[in-house]
Amino acid sequence: MIQIDLSSKRALIMGVTNRRSLGWSIAAKLQEAGCQLAFSYQGERLRGELEKLTDGMEGARLYQVDVTNPDELAAMVSDLEGAWGSLDHVVHSIAFAPREAMDGRYIDTTRDDWVTALEVSAYSLVASAQALEGLLTDDASMVTLSYYAAEKVVPKYNVMGVAKSALEASVRYLAYDLGKKGVRINAVSAGPVKTVAARSIPGFMKMYKRVAGMAPLGRGVDQQDVGRLGLFLLSDLASGITGETVYVDAGYHVMGMDLDDV
Ligand code: NAP
Repeated sequence: MIQIDLSSKRALIMGVTNRRSLGWSIAAKLQEAGCQLAFSYQGERLRGELEKLTDGMEGARLYQVDVTNPDELAAMVSDLEGAWGSLDHVVHSIAFAPREAMDGRYIDTTRDDWVTALEVSAYSLVASAQALEGLLTDDASMVTLSYYAAEKVVPKYNVMGVAKSALEASVRYLAYDLGKKGVRINAVSAGPVKTVAARSIPGFMKMYKRVAGMAPLGRGVDQQDVGRLGLFLLSDLASGITGETVYVDAGYHVMGMDLDDV
């Protein structure tokens, strides 16, 4: 049996709100593999929850970083450099779009909402890679979280779908830049999973049930499915994979039509 051993490795997880967060699901798998972990969270109100989650996790480091604030990003990098000197893995699990932008028609998206969604959900990956590049080891790896709406129209997803398209394109360009050093970066495209961010998407539960009913595996996916794929892509088992968007959606995206009676 192949064991993933990350006991000499160090990872930064960006974007954990609670134990349902997809960032946490990958973090938990990294921890099981022996990896040492650091976390960043958006605002101080989340610190208590993260302290509870990481209680007993030896050497865990916590940083308050709003990804739209370059100073907070720089302060984290500087502290990590002093404490660890280098970084083997990065998980970027961050997205935001104003609710109004996901409630109506895409054509009505305001400039401000468009810029906010793209900045937080896509540019933040570039900003993070840029800030962390100097810390990454020669065989380091990164993953980010995407969704099917990057490729196809998912009603209500609107500007977030456009942000995910930019995110996936950024993964390809970052793979090219970072690949020169040997660093890999991939996107995990997860089917709907019940998290705080997901529940803020209008009609999420309807979407969740529809996907489970139509997917080849006849079910949806959960945090365990996402965590396993994240661990795989970050580990040496995926040593030849970079710039890729890999689906973990019980096969939903391969379906072209939903005909109950076929
Ligand atoms: P989540 O637990 O709410 O995680 C999203 C995280 O992004 C939260 O910790 C949030 O912090 C953080 N964030 C938002 N704006 C930020 C900012 N300016 N600076 C720093 N952090 C910020 O929800 P999730 O579902 O696990 O989402 C994680 C990733 O998975 C997202 O990219 C999402 O699009 C993606 N994804 C989710 C699903 C799904 O069905 N759940 C499917 C496919 C892809 P706050 O809590 O403070 O807002």
